[in-house]
Amino acid sequence: MAVVGFDVGFQSCRVAAVKDGGVETVPDEFTERSTPAVVSFGPRSRSVGTAARHQIISNPGSTVCNFKRLHGRFFRDPVIQAERAGLPYDLVPLRDDGDDGIVGAKVMYLEKEHQFTIEQVTAMLLTKMKDTAEASLQKKVAECVISIPSFFTDSERRSVLDAAKIAGLNCLQLMNDTTAVALSYGIYKEDLPDPSEKPKIVFFVDMGHSALQVSACAFNKGKLKVLATAFDPYLGGRDFDQRLVEYFCAEFKTKYKLDTKSRVRAVLRLWQECEKLKKLMSSNSCDIPLNIECFMDDKDVMGKINRAKFEELCADLIERVTAPLVAAVEQAQVQLQDISAVEIVGGATRIPAVKAQISRFFGRDVSTTLNADEAVARGCALQCAMLSPVFRVRDFSLTDVTPFPISLSWSCGGDEAISCHEIFGKNETLPSSKVITFHRNKPFVLEVFYSDPGSLPFPEAKIGEYKVQCVQAQEKGEKTKVKVKVQVDGSGVMSVTSATVVMRVSSVDTEAELGENDTEEVIIQDGQDDSETQDKTQEINDHAQVQLDKQTTVKCPCSDKDPNLAHALRAPNGDPNSQPPYAKKAKMKIRHVAVPIEEKKTPQLTEDCLNTFIGLENQMIQRDQQEKERNNAKNAVEENVYFYRHKLEGPYRPFLSPDDQQKFTELLDLVESWLYDEGADQDMQTYLHKLAEIHKLGLPVKDRYQESVKRPKMFEELAAKIHKYKAVMEDFANGSENYSHIDEPDMEKLRVCVKATHDWLTTMKHCQEILNPEDQPAVHSTQIYEKLQTLVNVCEEVVSKPKPRVDSPDEDIMQVDHNSKKSPDSVTMEYDDILQNVEDCS
Ligand code: ATP
Ligand code: MG
Repeated sequence: MAVVGFDVGFQSCRVAAVKDGGVETVPDEFTERSTPAVVSFGPRSRSVGTAARHQIISNPGSTVCNFKRLHGRFFRDPVIQAERAGLPYDLVPLRDDGDDGIVGAKVMYLEKEHQFTIEQVTAMLLTKMKDTAEASLQKKVAECVISIPSFFTDSERRSVLDAAKIAGLNCLQLMNDTTAVALSYGIYKEDLPDPSEKPKIVFFVDMGHSALQVSACAFNKGKLKVLATAFDPYLGGRDFDQRLVEYFCAEFKTKYKLDTKSRVRAVLRLWQECEKLKKLMSSNSCDIPLNIECFMDDKDVMGKINRAKFEELCADLIERVTAPLVAAVEQAQVQLQDISAVEIVGGATRIPAVKAQISRFFGRDVSTTLNADEAVARGCALQCAMLSPVFRVRDFSLTDVTPFPISLSWSCGGDEAISCHEIFGKNETLPSSKVITFHRNKPFVLEVFYSDPGSLPFPEAKIGEYKVQCVQAQEKGEKTKVKVKVQVDGSGVMSVTSATVVMRVSSVDTEAELGENDTEEVIIQDGQDDSETQDKTQEINDHAQVQLDKQTTVKCPCSDKDPNLAHALRAPNGDPNSQPPYAKKAKMKIRHVAVPIEEKKTPQLTEDCLNTFIGLENQMIQRDQQEKERNNAKNAVEENVYFYRHKLEGPYRPFLSPDDQQKFTELLDLVESWLYDEGADQDMQTYLHKLAEIHKLGLPVKDRYQESVKRPKMFEELAAKIHKYKAVMEDFANGSENYSHIDEPDMEKLRVCVKATHDWLTTMKHCQEILNPEDQPAVHSTQIYEKLQTLVNVCEEVVSKPKPRVDSPDEDIMQVDHNSKKSPDSVTMEYDDILQNVEDCS
């Protein structure tokens, strides 16, 4: 079982795996170390990654790229609308949720229009990365950790987790990009200060294709604490490409009178060329030419640019690099002089002006000790190994932070007054949970939202709504104490994980058994009533005080289906309002009874929806597999046509008659023409039939040729063995000391076998010699091998019989020597060697 890390980038993705005590980046089938984040849909199948990238220009309407930022958003979202304007494929609203739907990509697939949610598209990408890992590691991927930008909100994070589920992945955690980088950096560092000392402060800056992220981290031996994260979600390499595209569009308009933006393919080609220019300018400051043949209207276009001009075009973008750096330093509350290192990763930090801007701000050279492209995936793989029970990793504690403050609101009592409390502050440690105590006499609703909508790169501040159910008044109308546990988990996903009503029950109430999620604590009644009388609505307790870690349940325990809780909520006589007769007994129990919570988060794929998508993904995987097999069968037909044509003109020629040669050549010509015509697009069975037709004529010829190479060697081998055992017979007849311990009957067995084999060999050699090469051979090499094996088995049993033990040291040596004869296994090895040689020379 393998544990892997997936860096799902906006432009390209990486797979890393923990292997042989280290972390390795896993290459794909084209030996590429990155997988382009592209999924292309065709009339017969879909392609993902490197194969799909080639379709961006030839099949733009059905090739989905640049989709990472579409996660977890409604179609009406301004980010979706802005992205949509620049995408070559169409985005549409799906699964209408009242006034709007979630976003999906509209493509042509299997010659029909299809709409896929972004979760499905990312799942396709993840499926590909999983296959890449499994093919390379030759192991099933058991668990994974997936990277996300640190500024992803709850909805975007859940959307990525849904994608992992659709891909059939067990995602142990989502990990912020820069936290993964920090882990890759820190886990191998030997020179970190002791936990009691001042930590080493390192800043990590990751500028990818779509965003800039910064994190401030504190390292001690075996410990990484993220202090703060800051970002510009709208500043990445693609913004620099865009400036170049705009520049050349304007130039082509004046120079060639071309309206580039009116043609999708022209714009896409220009983007690709501009990205190449940008990369070239990172290492060259001189003029770099841009030449595109047949750009538009059969016109070739030319242009040039240099780094100085590029920096002038992008001056404001370069300026924007500073703001997140300032924010990270401020939030981490560190002085620039306390920073030990600034590590940069992400492809766009290779732009010299970006690097210089970061350097200038920190007043120091930036470090590039990490692999700029692979550090995120490697960090994810390490985290996965740390979380997975499959691996043992050195102890290393890691705490991340919440990017945005989260608040909770609820209505207080009967009137409409709303109470609100910030439960997780900005940069609060992750994972984290809080328990809030309410006093209520009926079900109530908690609303969770981001407290500072202005700082969100997301239009919706609301995260979700949680209805705490089955709460009712206690005896004499007293309010019930309800403890609600709120959590932000390691993936940064917020949830209300449990709600329990706190009840006092008599210890003699033995019939009320505990439900699966209930707990009990015994208290000694001191005559004082524990229930508070004033309307104290909240107590935020320390996490350590939480005794329960309950799972959210959606089953209503008040129904007859859950007698435990129904019973617990009532007095033993079944009347919820009646006073239990033994309530005054000294020994009481406090019972924490789990009540159900109804969660509503939007946008959210329902369980049914997810199951449908999982089924669809599996169907598509199967279809891809069938298409792969169909293509393989077609390629096999083509390859065999060329193989036999080539061999018939060379080594196979003597092994078939002129008539057969003509027949076979005609068949090959026919199949070749068929392949380019009617046979260009057939089902797998048709190709397999064609292949069988070729093999029917080809395999006997191939076999005769291969036999002609193997047979003499096998004859030789058999003759050598016969010769060897004849020598033994002769030594025995001459009274050699070596064989004096062998009985005459045993030696007779050997003689008979050697003679029979010798006669067989002579006959077979003769039969074969009188045949022509195109005739069926008289004997097959496998038959010679069988003879050889029988001979060796019979004779070795006799000659390897141990001599009776004699105390002379000399004889001991002889004994050892005598027994060191080749075992029958060695025959197999020699034979295999021969086979190997024949394959090579055919
Ligand atoms: P994100 O992190 O935003 O999700 P990503 O992880 O796909 O995106 P990276 O692979 O880190 O992004 O970086 C890709 C970006 O880096 C592209 O814009 C690419 O053009 C740019 N880039 C790569 N090499 C160079 C270079 N030598 N000079 C300038 N830019 C480069
Ligand atoms: Mg990235």
